[in-house]
Amino acid sequence: MKKQQFVVIGLGRFGSNLALELMDLGYEVLGIDRNEELVEEMSDHLTHAVVADATDEEVLKSLGVRNFDCGIVAIGNDIQMSILAAILLKDLGINTVVAKAISVLHGRALEKLGVDRVIYPERDMGIRVAHQLVTPNLLDY
Ligand code: ATP
Repeated sequence: MKKQQFVVIGLGRFGSNLALELMDLGYEVLGIDRNEELVEEMSDHLTHAVVADATDEEVLKSLGVRNFDCGIVAIGNDIQMSILAAILLKDLGINTVVAKAISVLHGRALEKLGVDRVIYPERDMGIRVAHQLVTPNLLDY
């Protein structure tokens, strides 16, 4: 069976760790970031890593992004960039689009665009750690 292919947009702390973990799990990952240094750091560890502006539709098309099974928008702080990248991934027809949100309103906007799954890493990690702190024997929540 063909390996699932992921495109990760934004190789900050969240995006880079997500991309590396997907690689460890045996999947193919294309990482995209406009920051040359970050892309260089990741280039030996991902299937492909490319310096590009993820809000440039022509660039995404030329990278063949439409053929990926899942796209993850791992841009948080720049809500405008996050939203534009998410719209483009949806319009290109990627089967599953996942996006990180930094606030409830940001998440609502992403949902309205049709993003398949919105994740709130800081909120979810806070909840998870709280559970671990009061349940010492709970290894993972
Ligand atoms: P993290 O917490 O994961 O480090 P962050 O929320 O602090 O991320 P962001 O500003 O959200 O940082 O950006 C995450 C990454 O997305 C950065 O490496 C940034 O260069 C990249 N990025 C932002 N906008 C674009 C864009 N239009 N095209 C490509 N990459 C982008």
